[in-house]
Amino acid sequence: MIAAQDIKIKKVERSRLAEIDLKNLPFGKFFSDHMLVSDYGSGEWKNTEIKPYQPLLLQPSLAALHYGQAIFEGIKAYKDEKGQAYIFRPHDNFKRFNISATRMQMPVIPEEIFVEGMRQLIRLDKEWIPAIPNHSLYIRPFMFASDEVIGVKPSEHYKFLIILSPTGPYYSEPMRIYVEEKYTRAAPGGVGFAKAAGNYGGAMLATAEARKQGYDQVLWTDAFEHKYVQEIGTMNVFFVIGNTIITPDLESGTILNGVTRDSAITLFTDMGYIIEERPVHIDDMIKAYKAGQLKEVFGTGTAATISMIKELRYKDFVMNFDQTGWKAAPAMKQKLDAIRLGQAEDKFGWMFKI
Ligand SMILES: *Cc1c(COP(=O)(O)O)cnc(C)c1O
Repeated sequence: MIAAQDIKIKKVERSRLAEIDLKNLPFGKFFSDHMLVSDYGSGEWKNTEIKPYQPLLLQPSLAALHYGQAIFEGIKAYKDEKGQAYIFRPHDNFKRFNISATRMQMPVIPEEIFVEGMRQLIRLDKEWIPAIPNHSLYIRPFMFASDEVIGVKPSEHYKFLIILSPTGPYYSEPMRIYVEEKYTRAAPGGVGFAKAAGNYGGAMLATAEARKQGYDQVLWTDAFEHKYVQEIGTMNVFFVIGNTIITPDLESGTILNGVTRDSAITLFTDMGYIIEERPVHIDDMIKAYKAGQLKEVFGTGTAATISMIKELRYKDFVMNFDQTGWKAAPAMKQKLDAIRLGQAEDKFGWMFKI
C-alpha cells in the first residue's frame, strides 16, 4: 500500500492561473497546473506522482482505445467563506469508482491514491478553486487500459489519473425531456451502474436525435418494454406526487447510483418527505399528471445539482410543468448548495476537509 507521503511531487515552475479568466469558464475546458498519475502493472500500483498537467505519450495500439476498458468519476471541491477548501463526499465516489473498475475487469485503486492523492493534488492547486460564489473545482479521476497490444483480453497495465477543472455556476434552464422508447442505455446484467466511458458514447445518438426535435436530453427507459424510467443523461430522476418523492430503485443494475441522488434522498427524508425507491412506470406518472397530482420532476447530478424539468414528452403525450409552485426541488437545491458552500450545518459529514 502507498502511504500519502510516498506520492512524489514535481511542481510547475510558473502557474498558469493568471492566464485564466475565472469569471468566464466553459465547463471542462481549462485545467489546473498539476495532475496525479499512477501506473498499474505486475499486480500493483506504482510511480504515483503529482506533476505538471501535460500530454500523455501513448501508442496507437493502446488497449483502451480499442476495447473500451475506461472508467471515470466526477466530484467537486468548494471553498467556504473563510477560504477553507472541501471535497464533497469523495469516499462515495471512491467506492463507486472501484465498483465500476470491478465490473470492467480493471484493478481496484487504493484509497491512499484516490482520496489522499486527490487531497494532496487539490492542496497544491488550491488557488484554482475560484473564491467566487457558486464556483467550484471539478475533479475528474479516470482509469484506462494501457497495454500496447490489440488482443481482446483484459489489459495487464492501467493508468489512473486525476485532473482538475475550475467551473463556474451551472445555470441550468428548466429542461425539455424526451422519454426514449427506441434506443436503450442499459439492461440488467449490463454496465449501466458503472461510470464506464462507453455508456456515454452509446447514448449520444439518442440525445442528438432528441435535440433535433427541440429536447435537451432523453429520459431512458427499460430495455424490454420501454415503460419503466431509468435516468436522464448524467442525472438521476425524481418525481413528486403530493408529499411523496419517487425515484427509480437501483435493483436492476441499470442506473448509476448518484452521490447527489443519495444526498437528496437523505436530506428529503430528514425534511419529512416520504421517499419511495421503486420501479417507476411511465403510465403511472401520466395518470398522476392527468389527475393533477404530479407536481415536480427533476434531475440530480454533480454538475448542476438539481435540474428542473418543464416538459416531459412520452410518444405524443406532452406533460408541462410550471415551476412557480414548486417546493421540493428548489428547497433541495438551496439546501445542497448551502451545505457545499459551508453556509449550512454539515449534519451528515459530507464535506471532506483539504
Ligand atoms: C455521474 C452520473 C449521474 C450522477 O451521479 P452524481 O454522483 O450525482 O454526480 C447519474 N447518471 C449517470 C449516467 C452518471 O454518469
